[in-house]
Amino acid sequence: MNTPIPELAESAAPQGVQARWGSAVSPDLEAARLRLLAYVEVTPTCWLWTGTFYTQFGKPTYGQAYLNRKRMGAHRLSYIVHVGPIPDGLDILHSCDNPPCVNPAHLSPGTHRQNIADARARHGEWSPYGEKHGRARLSQADVDTIRAELAKGAYQRVLAERYGVTQAHISHIAKVKRWNVTRPESAEVAA
Ligand SMILES: [Zn+2]
Repeated sequence: MNTPIPELAESAAPQGVQARWGSAVSPDLEAARLRLLAYVEVTPTCWLWTGTFYTQFGKPTYGQAYLNRKRMGAHRLSYIVHVGPIPDGLDILHSCDNPPCVNPAHLSPGTHRQNIADARARHGEWSPYGEKHGRARLSQADVDTIRAELAKGAYQRVLAERYGVTQAHISHIAKVKRWNVTRPESAEVAA
């Protein structure tokens, strides 16, 4: 894991993103952007975070990243480095309904209330992996089995079909070291 994505690292703001930093982007932010991209797996739609995750009720939620030693959601950092500062007190909402996604084209500022309301309307509860995008919920046992199968050389595509999830999801599982992270592996992301 953690293979850098040079072609992206070299690129300017992704398509569909109106960057507000302009030429004023600082070296700090640019460095943070490159670090962020080293933990991203780009799919045709979402950019999946492959680093450490925040967890809620034992399940991964948002990616965990750092800017100037301050810990923050990877999606928030992505918004900051690609688009601009986050207005005070606002959450960063996912138009794709996929919390691990850090594609700035899918991110926009909104209120916390709006964020929770959106999630409830979609899932009936707050959930990091909804049914959209073919992301059926997988139990820890499923994830363990998938990892074991992958280690034995099973094809991601075959596992995706068997478990009713996207291949990107399987690939994501293959890359994230531990599904249930109870203690932040901060050093890895902060490096
Ligand atoms: Zn997305």
